[in-house]
This record gives sequence, C-alpha cells and structure tokens, in this order.
Amino acid sequence: MNEYEVEIEGLVYHAEAESAAEGLLGKGSHEAKPSRAVTPTLTEDDLALDRSLRPKRLAEYLGQTKVKEALSILIEAVKQRNDVIDHILLSGPPGLGKTTLATVVASELGSKIKTTSGPAIERTGDLAAILTNLEEGDVLFIDEIHRLNRMVEEVLYPALEDYALDIVVGKGPAARSIRLDLPRFTLIGATTRTGLLTGPLRDRFGIAFRLDYYSFEELASIIRRSALILDVAIEPQGALEIARRSRGTPRLANRLLKRVRDWVQVRGDGRINEDAAAQALSFFEVDSLGLDATDNRILQLLTVQFSGRPVGLSTLASALSEDPETLEDVYEPYLMQQGLLVRTPKGRQATRRTYEHLGMVAPETI
Ligand code: ADP
Repeated sequence: MNEYEVEIEGLVYHAEAESAAEGLLGKGSHEAKPSRAVTPTLTEDDLALDRSLRPKRLAEYLGQTKVKEALSILIEAVKQRNDVIDHILLSGPPGLGKTTLATVVASELGSKIKTTSGPAIERTGDLAAILTNLEEGDVLFIDEIHRLNRMVEEVLYPALEDYALDIVVGKGPAARSIRLDLPRFTLIGATTRTGLLTGPLRDRFGIAFRLDYYSFEELASIIRRSALILDVAIEPQGALEIARRSRGTPRLANRLLKRVRDWVQVRGDGRINEDAAAQALSFFEVDSLGLDATDNRILQLLTVQFSGRPVGLSTLASALSEDPETLEDVYEPYLMQQGLLVRTPKGRQATRRTYEHLGMVAPETI
C-alpha cells in the first residue's frame, strides 16, 4: 500500500493509493431505482442480470455495426504497433451499451479496466489516487463523465495529454511542485450527451462514437443470445415481439425477456412464442412501443393540456416534475426517433403520429 501526501490546488490529501482508488472504483455509478419495466436506467434487478448477459468480446456485442467496425480496426492497429489506443468518448442514451463496449474494448486489447463515474470522483485527490494506480495500457472507464467537477477535470487534462500528474508535495516554504509520470493509459468516457461536456475535455478525446437506438432485428438477436444464456426456449417471432417493445434499448430488452420468461413459466408452457410474449407484455402493461408511464404522460401533456401547441422544455419538465436534463436525455430521444415528438424553434410539439398512437383525432393545425 502506498501512503503519500498530495497537494493539489492548495488542498492536502493523505492518500493510501490502493484503498482510496479501490473504494472509489468499487462505487457503482448507477443508483438503484424502483423497478419500472421500461425505465432505461439501471435498477438493482438489472445488476445481477447485467453481469451474466453482458458481452465480453466484440463478436458478442451485437448491432452498432459502424462503431464496431471502426473499433476493430483501431484495436488491430494499436496491437500491431504495440501502442496504446487513443482516448474514446462514447455518447448515447442510457442502456445502449456504453459500459459494455468499454469492457469489450479492454478485453479485446487484453487490458485491465477500472471503472468509476463522474459524480464518484469528488476531489482531485480521488482522481490522483486512481491515476497513480493505473498500469501501462490499462483502460480507465468514467461513466457520466460530464458530471466531473471542474477542479477534477483540470487534473485530468495533463493526464490525458501528456500522461502526467502535476502535484504539489509538502506545505509552506518547503512545498514544491513535481510532475509525476503516469503510465500510458486509455480513458473511455461515457455521457448521455456530448453537448454536456466542456469544450476542453471534449477536445482531448481522439475518438468519439455515438451509439444509436437498436433496430428490432438487432434487439431480437440480443434477446435470443440472452435467452440462450438464461436457458429459456424462444421462437424468433417471440424475440421480435419483445424487441418491438424494448424502446430500442438492450437493457430493456433483457429486462422484458426476464419478465416474459417468468410469465411463460407460470402461465404458459415455458416456451416464448409471439403470442405468449404479447400476452405477457400486456399483462405487465408494456405499451406496444415500449413507452412507459412518463412517456405517455409527456404525450398526454402535449396533446391534451397543451392542445398540440409548442411547449418550452422547462414548462414541460415542471409539468412532469422531472428535471429538464432527464427529459432531454432519457425521454425525448426515443419519442423523437418514433416521430411522436418534434423539437421546433418554439418548443416541443406533438405530431399526427402522437394523436394516432393515443387513438385521438389530430387538430387541423398539426
Ligand atoms: P450503458 O452503459 O449505455 O447505460 P450498458 O453497457 O450497461 O449500457 O448495457 C446494458 C445491458 O445491455 C448490458 O448489461 C448488456 O447485457 C446489454 N447490452 C448492451 N449493448 C449490447 C450489445 N451491443 N449486445 C448485447 N448486449 C448488449
């Protein structure tokens, strides 16, 4: 165990490198939330499920073909040169596979991965402890990287650019600034939206990928793979039925699969076919598009309360009692992709499809 005193920006930290870093790295970035079938954020239930179903190699990581292709070229090239891969920024809504992709990249490189999150790194000393514990070629994964505080972010800049840590050792007149060399490592940062990152941090990533919602076919493949691991019989049409209601998100697809598995075990014959999947999902009140109560409330607000007129983000957020950031990052992207909500210069607005989906007649103006 390394014991040392680190002073960064006038604050002295007593750090026991191994334990400080371990304590931090052990802290998950995700909060346990009440289990709502179609919430794309992580629930406690998912944690156990995630571990067994999470792909470990690029070949098992389904969909996101463009990103995968680019990554396999990069990985191959750095392996040939015996080099370290450039820092990578992954963006996209929750549950699309950013954490998974980071672990896949590390295992393809044959590297170790350390995982933490923006909010978990509270002080500059915490980051110093993490960085000094890295080994050559390690991957450091920081989830929700847009939530790093400014002081911590500034310590990260030289680490990313020059693999160096600037620290002040000692106090008062004896204090001196030293630059510690860090091993060459790769940072993989994940964020729900690239726009939330500060410019200087964004610029320090050599590579940026945006993950998109998955197609039904891709989700159906993920569901079939998961069913195999969970040892449950599934027909292709059954997988597709679950896929259609999974909001384009693998995490939801796996969660719904688990619910359907329970249902067929108790009410069905243990096999997931199209009919059983449809019955199970309507039993669990999963909408035909995978929309949850909040999504539906958004659509109700846009169509009924605001009668199809454009609404500002903050007005909509306060009517929902959600914060605007969650509304923009978690709910809107999927509703927009489905053509159920549009962003106009005047605000958010329902579309003809929104009215159709709700079984209502659209006003003439829409
Ligand atoms: P994020 O970090 O973007 O919130 P995760 O990486 O935690 O999402 O993914 C959630 C779960 O979805 C994983 O545990 C994994 O089981 C599954 N998953 C995500 N992407 C894929 C994929 N491309 N192929 C197969 N399963 C996936």
